[in-house]
Amino acid sequence: MIYFRLKSPQSALYHRKVFFHLSIIYSWLKYIKRNIIPMSNNMLLLFIDSLPYELIAKNNLFSWLSFKGPLRPGVGYSFTQKAEILKGQQPDQLGYLNFWYLDAEPTAKLNIVYNLTTFVRDIFPFGDKVLHYLLARVWKKVANIPFEFIGRFNNGVPSSYAPDNPSILSMGKWEIVIGDDLDSPNPDSAAVALMQTKIESASEDRSFFIALPQLDKLGHLYGPDHENYLEHARYLDSQLQKLTEQFLQKYPDGVVCSFSDHGMLKVTESIHLSGKLFNIPGGRRAAYWLDSTMLRVWVETEEEKRIIHERLKTEKHLHILSEAERKEYGVTLKKFGDIMAITLPGIVFSPNHFGIRKPVGMHGFHPMHQAHQAFWGMVQSNRTPQIENGKLIKTIDFYRELLAQKELNSI
Ligand SMILES: [Zn+2]
Repeated sequence: MIYFRLKSPQSALYHRKVFFHLSIIYSWLKYIKRNIIPMSNNMLLLFIDSLPYELIAKNNLFSWLSFKGPLRPGVGYSFTQKAEILKGQQPDQLGYLNFWYLDAEPTAKLNIVYNLTTFVRDIFPFGDKVLHYLLARVWKKVANIPFEFIGRFNNGVPSSYAPDNPSILSMGKWEIVIGDDLDSPNPDSAAVALMQTKIESASEDRSFFIALPQLDKLGHLYGPDHENYLEHARYLDSQLQKLTEQFLQKYPDGVVCSFSDHGMLKVTESIHLSGKLFNIPGGRRAAYWLDSTMLRVWVETEEEKRIIHERLKTEKHLHILSEAERKEYGVTLKKFGDIMAITLPGIVFSPNHFGIRKPVGMHGFHPMHQAHQAFWGMVQSNRTPQIENGKLIKTIDFYRELLAQKELNSI
């Protein structure tokens, strides 16, 4: 048996020995931290909702970004695109696509609205259309749900910015400013001003993320060719350059990355799809869903799928996603629809996700359409990006680059 004999704590020699051993342990921990555990870099991550790379290149914007290029989005809207970039996951892994989804249990409260109005719809020949129109006037988000399926759909997805939702923003300590959360008529300038003060007062281990929502709103309202849209893009160019300079002054070894989630196109035409397209043998109608630019249909048998697919093939405004495309964009789950189609560039459904009227500008078109592609950008740091300047990359490629830039071992 081994016995340890402790010396009297009062002994001066004892104190010297303890101090000596602690200093050796401290040096080793410091060595491990510097050389073995990768250091997390200070990062400034700038996100602009809705800015096409095409527009940046044409107007020579963001010239202070040393590396930049087009970013191919996935299918769908901002909720999904942001998650793809910040989490590195496509809808199949995320488990959601866009904001609304087919509810497995059709018990949503909207079903009650539909059932309560049955008698009106039965008595009046156009009762169905009138009631749906009136409902959409007070709650515009339901305008694009086919009225007979109004109780079958529900909404809500987790925020990509939530700290408990793993993403690049949950790696290390971040100061996060989301323009949409600020109660301001000019959320972008309010967000930039708030970020300036955060950078100024932050401790040395911080990274920073800013989300700027205003360009998307201007794009929908005026279209991407309008001076208001271009003017705001120029404003963001100068404001974000200043923010970058402030950040690099405080963190000279920090990295600055920027991205948008999709482009923006001028709307040229709106189309209405007849519910009859989705009739199936037996007097039923397949559940279908119209976003602004995306159609999804759910069927029960392969035969039903074949019948509807054949009909949709004759719709010249639609591109039906092939199996290969669904695999490429990570949208293969049945819950996303048995058939998925996207309107051709510039064409939107009416009514749509924004209500009864058609927006002037829209996104959510085919990911390979040039004007719909987003942008990625970086400022020169001590780690040259793996992605080539000017090259078209996918959302997952940019996520990997963000990780590499964030995890850089800064010895
Ligand atoms: Zn939008």
